[in-house]
Amino acid sequence: MAVLVLVRSPLPRLRTLLQRYWGQLERGLRPGVFGSQNPPWGAALAVQGPALVPQGMNGGESSAKAPSLLESVVWMAAPKHRRTIEVNRCRRRHPTKLIEIKRNIDVCPECGNLKQKHVLCGYCYAKVKEETRLIRMEIHKKEGGPLNAPAVESVVLYEGEKPTEKDEGKRIIERARNRPSWFVQN
Ligand code: ZN
Repeated sequence: MAVLVLVRSPLPRLRTLLQRYWGQLERGLRPGVFGSQNPPWGAALAVQGPALVPQGMNGGESSAKAPSLLESVVWMAAPKHRRTIEVNRCRRRHPTKLIEIKRNIDVCPECGNLKQKHVLCGYCYAKVKEETRLIRMEIHKKEGGPLNAPAVESVVLYEGEKPTEKDEGKRIIERARNRPSWFVQN
């Protein structure tokens, strides 16, 4: 009997100790469920959010206090009356809203396409751009790069053209095609 008492007497104390530790562990793991305060080392939510977000993350507790749907909707301005199609067309087709009619359109003397009077013809400019690109490719083939360009005047010679006395000492770039009509030889 004495042996039994000696053996069993620490057991209740041990059991209570274990129960206390278990309770602390449970509270530490799930602070919200048991309603206890967060431990000081717990993560703190410090987000400045709108009032729509339900307060806290306390699980089932906040469901009763959650704002209703009507309270959480952000009301925006909306038209109260329908506008007729006549009214809408009058607004849309008002003279101040229409695109201005262009009266400065002319025919390009080179290619015959329509263009604005004070603006370079787009079709002609595309041709000039392409020819310039090809001349640049010829220069690149000849000199290998823009850094090797000599500091002299450049002359572009087309098929069937010979350098004249004026072109002596100038940089001569040859193109394997006939001279375009818009590229005047100086
Ligand atoms: Zn043109």
